Amino acid sequence: MRDIPREVAADPLARAAQLARSFLDRLPARAVGAQARFEDLLAGFPAALPDAGEDPTAVIEELARLVDPGLTASAGPRYFGFVIGGSLPAALGADWLTSAWDQNAALYATSPAAAAAEQVTAGWVLGLLGLPATAGVGFVTGCQMANFTGLAAARHAVLERAGWNVEDQGLQGAPPLRVVIGEEAHATILSALRFLGLGSGRAYRVEADGEGRMRPEALRRLLAREQGPTIVCAQAGNVNTGAFDPLDEIAEIAHQCGAWVHVDGAFGLWASASPGRRHLIQGVERADSWATDAHKWLNVPYDSGLAVVADPADLRAPLGKRAAYLVRAEGGTRDNHDFTPESSRRARGFAIYAALRSLGRSGVADLVERCCGLASRLASHLDGREGARVLNRVVLNQVLVGFRPPNGGDPDAFTRAVIGRIQGQGICWAGGTRWQGQEALRLSISNWSTTEADIDRSAQAVLAAARREAER
Ligand SMILES: *Cc1c(COP(=O)(O)O)cnc(C)c1O
Repeated sequence: MRDIPREVAADPLARAAQLARSFLDRLPARAVGAQARFEDLLAGFPAALPDAGEDPTAVIEELARLVDPGLTASAGPRYFGFVIGGSLPAALGADWLTSAWDQNAALYATSPAAAAAEQVTAGWVLGLLGLPATAGVGFVTGCQMANFTGLAAARHAVLERAGWNVEDQGLQGAPPLRVVIGEEAHATILSALRFLGLGSGRAYRVEADGEGRMRPEALRRLLAREQGPTIVCAQAGNVNTGAFDPLDEIAEIAHQCGAWVHVDGAFGLWASASPGRRHLIQGVERADSWATDAHKWLNVPYDSGLAVVADPADLRAPLGKRAAYLVRAEGGTRDNHDFTPESSRRARGFAIYAALRSLGRSGVADLVERCCGLASRLASHLDGREGARVLNRVVLNQVLVGFRPPNGGDPDAFTRAVIGRIQGQGICWAGGTRWQGQEALRLSISNWSTTEADIDRSAQAVLAAARREAER
C-alpha cells in the first residue's frame, strides 16, 4: 500500500473510488472474458464469516483483489454478449451518489428529491421514446420487472372491463383471460405470466417470420377465434435479430377486439430516439403498456428498467400500497411506489437523469445510430469470409453469424468451436444462440464506448478464430 496516499488509505470511499478508477482505466485492455474458475474464486473468500470485524478500507481492498479475475469486461468496448451496455460516466457518478445519499425512493415523504428526479426523468423518457406524455412510468430493476409491471396493469384493466376485480378477488373464478404472445417472445414474458398466475403454458403463440417478427395475419386469425379479455404481447427488438414486430398492424388488430397491447422493448424501444431508425417502431405509441431497460442501451449501471403504462390508474390499481402509516403524497407530488411492485428501493431515477442529461436528445440519437452503424460495419467485415455468413437483416444493433467448415463437416459443431475460440482469445466476447435451426454467434453492439477500431479488431479476432478452427 506504499503508493497510496495516507488520506486515501484510511478512507474506504476514497480507496473505492481509486480502485474503480483503476478498473475503468484497465477495462479496454483487459481480457474480455473472466479469467478465473468458480472454484478458484470461492477459494479466495474465507469459508466461514470470521468472528472479528475488519477495517473497512481493508475489506474494500481485499474484495477488489479477490473478485478481479472473475470479473468480465462487460462494461468495456468489445463485449458483445447478450445485450449488455456499459455505464456512461455521468450515470456511474450519479449511481455512486445514489448509494451515498441512500434515499428510500418509495414515498414522497422519504425522498422528495427522488420523487422529483423520477417525475422529470419519466417525462424525458416518454418524449424520447415517442410514448404518450400522460403515461405512468415506474422505475424498476430491469425489463423482467417492467414486463411483469406492464402485464399486471394489463391483467387489471382487461378483467375490470369484464366486471372482475382481480386485485380483490384474485384469479380463482375470474373470467378466462387469453394471453397471446409471439413465437419469439422473450423468456421474461413467460416468467412474468407465471408470476401473475396466468400460466406461461396457457399463452397462445403466434407464428413469426424469418426475422422473428409476429405475423399479423396469424394474430388476426387467432383473435377472431374467440372473444373475451385478451392481452397481446408484442416485441420491439428481437434478442437474436433485433427485428421489430409490426406494431402498427398489431395495435390495429388487437384494439379492434378490445385487447390490451403490451410491448416488450428492452433495448428496441430506444430506436424511437433515432430519426434514422424510428420507422422500425412505427405505431409503438398505440400500445397500452411498454417495458424497457435503462441498463442496456442507455448505458446506465445495473439495475435499471422502466415500466410504462398509458393510463397511470392501471398501474396504481395493482401496485399502489395503502397503510395507515404511509403518508399520502400531497396533491401534485409523486409517490414512486404507486408505479412499481417494490416498496422501499434505490432511487434509480438519478442515474437515468444523469445519463440523459449528459447525452442530450442528440446524444441519445447518436448513441443508437452509432451502435447500429457499428453493427453493420461488423456484419460487412464478417459476411462471406472464413466460412462466415450473416444470418439476419442487420436493421438494428444485433448481428447473427453462422460458420461453415471448409471441407463439409457439421456446421453446428464448427460454429460452437469457433465461439469457444473467440471467447478464449479474450479480444472480444460474444455468445451463441440457435437461430432458424442452426447454431449462431450472436453479437450485440450496445456500448457507448465501442469505436470503429474496436469493431475492426474484433472482426479480425472472429475471422482468426474461424481460420484456426478450420486449420485444426
Ligand atoms: C434483456 C431483455 C429482457 C429482460 O431484461 P432484463 O433487463 O434482463 O430484466 C426482456 N426482453 C427483451 C427483448 C430483452 O432483450
